[in-house]
Amino acid sequence: MKKIFIVVLMLVILGKQNPYAQTWAIALHGGAGNMMPEQFTKEQLDEYQRELSNALQVGINILKGGGKSLDAVEQVVRYLEDCPLFNAGKGSVYTHEGRIELDAAIMDGNTLGAGAVASVRDVKNPISLARKVMEASPHVLLVGSGASEFARLQGVEMADSSYFFTSKRWEEIQRVLSREKMGTVGCVALDIHGNLAAATSTGGMTNKRWGRVGDAPIIGAGTYANNATCAVSATGHGEFFIRNTVAHDISALMEYQNLSLNAAVEKVIMLKLAKAGGRGGVIAVDRKGNVSMMMNTSAMFRAHANSNGVLSFAIF
Ligand code: ASP
Repeated sequence: MKKIFIVVLMLVILGKQNPYAQTWAIALHGGAGNMMPEQFTKEQLDEYQRELSNALQVGINILKGGGKSLDAVEQVVRYLEDCPLFNAGKGSVYTHEGRIELDAAIMDGNTLGAGAVASVRDVKNPISLARKVMEASPHVLLVGSGASEFARLQGVEMADSSYFFTSKRWEEIQRVLSREKMGTVGCVALDIHGNLAAATSTGGMTNKRWGRVGDAPIIGAGTYANNATCAVSATGHGEFFIRNTVAHDISALMEYQNLSLNAAVEKVIMLKLAKAGGRGGVIAVDRKGNVSMMMNTSAMFRAHANSNGVLSFAIF
């Protein structure tokens, strides 16, 4: 009897120390835009759902096994970068000059470490290069040919322009979606160790020029993670997300005004950003495992799952 009492007492004490232990949560996005269901065939919608589901499963397997949120967000984004349906890695949109220029960032909410790359033309998985910048360089953001040089030194897989040339099927889908300039990918996660992480990767805006860089690789604009508050990955019209420091603003509202994750996301996306004319959305997770996915456009490819058995997908 005494033994049982001690075990129960220890469980209560342990539970008090870390009430959310064993809680994990993950959310991902595949871009936002003003699309309508009629613009897609059933097969296209099924394909999006299948790929989002596969990507989510990559993250679930890592988090379920006690893995790190940082690994989960990197691997999920790598999966989506390799999938030609999305505007990141292989499916990236073209610049005005007919090139691809990729941006990506990753952030560790535990250490506030961050790594990002911008305007990279020859790296197969920019998100993994961003992680190398965080872990193997003293810098946060590397751009263009310098980033490629660093990638080669780090033994990161390179790819030439023919790799990024995508299939006819993608071109067909892109024709429908190009007006929307969407398809960026991102992932946020909480692991069972209580650590948050965020990752975002994109080809940027179709027809971009002059070395334009969007919000995805700008820490605090399109990507942010802080164990004290939340992890955020954004998608939408990058210039507005940079000017409004969207991802950090959500975290700051939680930190300084004690807002809940959902209230902070709503304030920034539905009020502040919308009022400024900025179109897009975010996925976010807080340290308790609450997930918020909100957009001020008609659609955002999104999915989430958690340790309570939730598994959901949505587009519109
Ligand atoms: N935010 C990205 C950019 O401006 C584009 C997108 O999310 O669709 O580069």
